[in-house]
Amino acid sequence: MAKGKLFVISGPSGAGKGTICKEIFDQERNIELSVSMTTRQPRQGEIDKVHYHFVTKNDFDQLIEEDGFMEYANVYGNYYGTPRAQVMEWLEQGIDVILEIDVQGALQVQKNYDDGVYIFILPPSLEELKKRIRGRGSETEETMARRLGEALHEIHNIDKYDYRVINEDLDTAIDRVRAIITAEQCKINGEEVDWIVNKYKEDL
Ligand code: 5GP
Repeated sequence: MAKGKLFVISGPSGAGKGTICKEIFDQERNIELSVSMTTRQPRQGEIDKVHYHFVTKNDFDQLIEEDGFMEYANVYGNYYGTPRAQVMEWLEQGIDVILEIDVQGALQVQKNYDDGVYIFILPPSLEELKKRIRGRGSETEETMARRLGEALHEIHNIDKYDYRVINEDLDTAIDRVRAIITAEQCKINGEEVDWIVNKYKEDL
């Protein structure tokens, strides 16, 4: 059986990648969304093991020691990481997996995993990004400046990604990410060729 595909989705905070990933996860049957581990406190409405595995720094450090992360990073002062075991199990079972992670994490995955597909979600402009971040209502002028600086830093790494989707209109952006996923699922890869040929031979 062919292995699942790994889709890594990044983009500045406020670009809308979380909403896009969630919609795709809800609509697609054979795709899983990895639940990250984090040391940050849950926000209102966030559920443990659904949105994140909320853990202490000690628990996080323990998984680092056990080499249990596919990648991890410090983002805005908190630790976030992708537990390796579940993702690998899905991929081995032929199930596609989405990781919604920051650029630092995506670069680590690129080093350790050969077959990922990397998608970068962009806001239509920095002005629009400011508006969206302000809309969340939790930013001071200082944290806003920091978030925008980090957004620009992330955008500087866009050359490490395979695709970019500008999220001007949410539905269009979701359609485009789905189109990328569909195209990648239909791509012929060397590993699969024998499997496909044998499958049809068996029916002879
Ligand atoms: P938030 O705290 O707003 O949910 O997420 C903050 C940032 O951390 C986002 O850019 C998000 O993509 C990133 N992030 C979430 N989970 C992971 C993870 O497992 N690894 C890495 N490297 N970044 C993550």
